[in-house]
Amino acid sequence: MGDYSSLGDVAGKRVLVRSDLNVPLDGTPPAMRITDDGRIRASVPTIRALAEAGARVVVVAHLGRPKGAPDERYSLRPVAARLGELLGQDVAFASDTVGESAQSVVAGLADGQVAVLENVRFNPGETSKDESERAAFADQLASLADAFVSDGFGVVHRKQASVYDVAQRLPHAMGALVATEVDVLRRLTEDPARPYVVVLGGSKVSDKLGVIDNLLGKADRLLIGGGMVFTFLAAQGHEVGKSLLEQDQLDICRSYLARAASTGVEILLPTDIVVDTRFPSGDATPHPRVVPATQIPADSLGLDIGPESAAAFAAALADARTVFWNGPMGVFEVDAFADGTRTVAEALTKVDGLSVVGGGDSAAAVRTLGFDEAAFGHISTGGGASLEYLEGKQLPGIQVLED
Ligand code: ADP
Ligand code: MG
Repeated sequence: MGDYSSLGDVAGKRVLVRSDLNVPLDGTPPAMRITDDGRIRASVPTIRALAEAGARVVVVAHLGRPKGAPDERYSLRPVAARLGELLGQDVAFASDTVGESAQSVVAGLADGQVAVLENVRFNPGETSKDESERAAFADQLASLADAFVSDGFGVVHRKQASVYDVAQRLPHAMGALVATEVDVLRRLTEDPARPYVVVLGGSKVSDKLGVIDNLLGKADRLLIGGGMVFTFLAAQGHEVGKSLLEQDQLDICRSYLARAASTGVEILLPTDIVVDTRFPSGDATPHPRVVPATQIPADSLGLDIGPESAAAFAAALADARTVFWNGPMGVFEVDAFADGTRTVAEALTKVDGLSVVGGGDSAAAVRTLGFDEAAFGHISTGGGASLEYLEGKQLPGIQVLED
């Protein structure tokens, strides 16, 4: 759990909490609907603990990728309302992050009350690569509080003002969520129980190839699904039609396959693929078709792993004692392409050991497909952050707390 002892008694203090409230939204402003509130729920324990200790809690967070200026589509207002429901208390909302609204909302907080500031990425200083611009913004953020708690695990790999620079300006501590996430990642990297199986999928192919590099020396088996499959299949010389493909990563994929063969790490690629002639969109009826992975028609694209592959992946997970899964096996948002993801998720729930699901879409997938979260060892709120940790990189948002 979070340890805030380094902050002393927080009663009456203004505590700035960096949370990760970056949830998927549906609809048009101002009627936005939260389609998965997992990250808000994961943020509650830290906020509640601080409020119960009498702190005046100021939550800072981002949503989506606005371009450094206010954009109603990315407002945190609906998120603040949901947070209030989950906390069971009123949550004040500031319509800016460090301006007049923020200052007066923070000044109006009584002990134990909570406020949410508007999307921190409406300010260009938040993500600026210019250190002085970031520093100036961090100064403004820091002026709103007496202490800082870092609890946005999804952003700890980012050197951003509300994650990194503000921690250098205030007494700081790690929040409960970040502490839990880091603990799980340690268990995945330091002496994991074997067999250790890693399942990778999703669409951010080049983001995820880096992690394979490091995991080839740690995992016993690597199962590859999702959009990443096609770069591997192409690297083996197969036709992949119109599937997602990263041409410039072919050599890297080839080198991973060769290294895996020489070090005895098993890499499992799908043997069959669910294809369609178009990417699913709107109300167009999907026409899923199962083909051998080595015979993807030129006019089609792969949208899920096939049933034979899903069964093979489940079998490869059956005796695992440690599993890390990042990235859906297919376009699970559309029912016709959700079976691979469903089968892998099902297999994870049966693992006798530590099963970890990482990645925003993967976590959303297990929930929207109706799985009980408690059936997994841990559902991480941070995809990029957990991948960078597993790649062996230092995470600036963690490092700065340890200094
Ligand atoms: P995560 O958020 O779990 O890290 P990613 O963001 O990398 O995962 O990828 C999630 C997305 O990948 C999902 O929206 C899913 O529709 C998409 N996806 C999965 N398989 C494919 C595929 N074969 N082709 C295109 N997109 C895919
Ligand atoms: Mg994602």
